[in-house]
Amino acid sequence: MTRRAALLASLAATAQPKTLTAGEILDRIKKAVAVEWREQTVDTFKTGSASTPVRGIATTFMATFDVLQRAAAEGRNMIVTHEPTFYAHDDGAKEVANEPTLHAKQAFIEKNQIAIFRFHDHWHARRPDGIRTGMLEELGWSKYEKPGERILELPKTSLAALAKDIKAKLGIRAIRVIGDPAQPVSKVAINPGYNNLTGAIRSLRNADALVIGEAREWEVYEFVQDMIAAGDRKALIVLGHSVSEEGGMKECAKWLKTFISEVPVAHIPAGEPFWSV
Ligand SMILES: [Zn+2]
Repeated sequence: MTRRAALLASLAATAQPKTLTAGEILDRIKKAVAVEWREQTVDTFKTGSASTPVRGIATTFMATFDVLQRAAAEGRNMIVTHEPTFYAHDDGAKEVANEPTLHAKQAFIEKNQIAIFRFHDHWHARRPDGIRTGMLEELGWSKYEKPGERILELPKTSLAALAKDIKAKLGIRAIRVIGDPAQPVSKVAINPGYNNLTGAIRSLRNADALVIGEAREWEVYEFVQDMIAAGDRKALIVLGHSVSEEGGMKECAKWLKTFISEVPVAHIPAGEPFWSV
């Protein structure tokens, strides 16, 4: 190596940005999310650790094996996932401990040194809620939101037209609807993700239609069916959990980019698991 080449090489080495670790990224997330970090939380590393060097970041609704494969192919080894990786809220995976599917996923994670961080509690706790913000953006409904109000007042339409519009905007294959297709709707509540009966009742009290990710068929769905049978003009639109929150993790990628510039950040949608005939 000539003196000049050696000098250039040493300059290039000093210009190399220092490696960003998953822990450093988490520290920045904690600061930027601007809510107190909880002691009891599922927002922890599920694989890898704070010291894992990060080459690229992918946000997603859920760290499925498919998402991990797509992320690894793009050289991204930190996944910021909203939902569990190992099939349980605490990622304990006891039931699947002996399943080859789990072992294949774990081996892939190990081989590609993937750090998986779950970002659920604090992304929802952020004000405004990061998932809700992203979903309203995806639906083009941000302009209808009034601070402090759960119900959006949309231009009057029919239930069928509303469902069709949502299906098109979110690219859903298997959307499901309860209610009269011709029913006029304007007051709409949207609760992404899982809905329990208490939350659904509260939303339906003042809304014509409630848009949710999922609920138990023998709780919320039955209650809406009975509201209709009792003479109420109410409706329920069921998107599926994944598509009801994915826009929120797209929003998360946008947000991460505002304070992470050393490594590439992108959103990799987990995708709707269902199709319909
Ligand atoms: Zn959620």
